[in-house]
Amino acid sequence: HLISNNGAPSGRKHFLFYNPPMVNRSLNIRKSATLEVRKLASEFLKNGIQTIVFARSRVRVEIILTYLQEVMKPIVGPNSIQGYRGGYLPNERRVIEKGLRSGDIKGVVSTNALELGVDIGQLQTCIMTGYPGTISSAWQQAGRAGRRHNEALIVMVASSAPLDQYIVQNPDYFFKQNPETAVINPDNLVILVDHIKCAAFELPFKRTDTFGGAEIEDILDYLAEERVLHLTGNTYHWMNDAFPAHGISLRSASQENVVIIDQSKREKAKVIGEMDRFSAMTLLHDEAIYLHQGIQYQVEKLDWEEKKAFVREVQVDYYTDANLAVLLRVLEVDKEKKTETAAFGFGDVTVQAKATIFKKIKFETHENIGSGPIHLPEEELHTNAAWVQVNDDERQNWNDIKLEEALLGTANVLGHVAALKVMCDPSDLHVFPQIKAVHNEKPTIFLYDRYPGGVGLSQKVYEQMPEIISEAHRLISRCPCESGCPSCIGVGGSSDQTKNNALRLLKGWKG
Ligand SMILES: [Zn+2]
Repeated sequence: HLISNNGAPSGRKHFLFYNPPMVNRSLNIRKSATLEVRKLASEFLKNGIQTIVFARSRVRVEIILTYLQEVMKPIVGPNSIQGYRGGYLPNERRVIEKGLRSGDIKGVVSTNALELGVDIGQLQTCIMTGYPGTISSAWQQAGRAGRRHNEALIVMVASSAPLDQYIVQNPDYFFKQNPETAVINPDNLVILVDHIKCAAFELPFKRTDTFGGAEIEDILDYLAEERVLHLTGNTYHWMNDAFPAHGISLRSASQENVVIIDQSKREKAKVIGEMDRFSAMTLLHDEAIYLHQGIQYQVEKLDWEEKKAFVREVQVDYYTDANLAVLLRVLEVDKEKKTETAAFGFGDVTVQAKATIFKKIKFETHENIGSGPIHLPEEELHTNAAWVQVNDDERQNWNDIKLEEALLGTANVLGHVAALKVMCDPSDLHVFPQIKAVHNEKPTIFLYDRYPGGVGLSQKVYEQMPEIISEAHRLISRCPCESGCPSCIGVGGSSDQTKNNALRLLKGWKG
């Protein structure tokens, strides 16, 4: 049931869309959004203006936090600027929320963990490091500033990513649209079981009850076996001592976390946070630098079986960034559509991901100063995907290198445009180009739901594929760069024809 009325009192909001200055015009590369946010946020904080900074990833949060704590240390205490994100422990979070309400904490850097439901009182300024990905998310973040009757300033600092550049150049898209459609797949077993748990907590189920039309006796029996429910006579009662809604993320269907244990003090190891398994592969591997409240820890050992990461405090001038190798297999083709020039598909897929190597990246200059291997088993995700492939006739006109570069460039844009069209967060929808896909042996670009079982995003992508392709073509052809840039196909093509080749590919698909 859709609840679309916003009853919260709210003062006037000023929106500022800030596009960092160009540093290389022909490559269309702009100044780093992170460094521009540091500059803007320090200015507000120095003037005693309580400010919340949002960033899209946990690592980004910690990097900005480190920068701001450094700038502010001489002026106010180091504790007046705090980080806030998933993975901090509940006690730690409550202290930060209280500090924000009382005004003891002047600045907070957060992921979208602070978007929903947490009371932190009213802040004066909100800065977003890059477009948060969806309109609803942007409004949620903007809502953190200027609650009740005070005026507030919201600044969105655009990165070079295609979606950010699209928003900053088409602000009407943001102001005139309704916030996005909510996408949920009620038949996803993971989601269904969680909903049944919550429902059973409220009222007992009878043996013959259905749930949203679905027959659920098997699930109720399973939960009884797991000692979550207790069956007496014909009725399943809740018997677990936990509150089920706490275990459910509104954003993600994945579970099972890795616990992070600080053993800096030999006599007293301490749990400092937790992280989901998929993220842990690239953020908590051996030798990774894990940032927590601006403090650097090095991972000494990641015990994958026991789901424990042992870390120790260090002081280094770099952070780490890991590569993930992905293998995608189509299990079943559910829908297919062929035009004269293109073929689209939708179906069940498995995605196998394996962390391969990590790089050490220096703060400030962001240069690569070393690398190492990661030894972790593969993780598997069973989900849905939509795809578009290159036909045999067209394939003959390309050599492998050119085609691969055009596919990579096109995929970069398709992922962003698809997220825009189906109105989801870009990180919920992964894009994966393959020069020779396993199931059809053709060059193919896949877009898949990042959640086990799928939540319905790629199905919408499949339905809107022709518009997505047209919009991607428009975005690349209108980009002011000469031969590719981070705001369209990315950089890295070996020839200056890659941009034209990507356009040619898309034109072929458009028919
Ligand atoms: Zn460009």
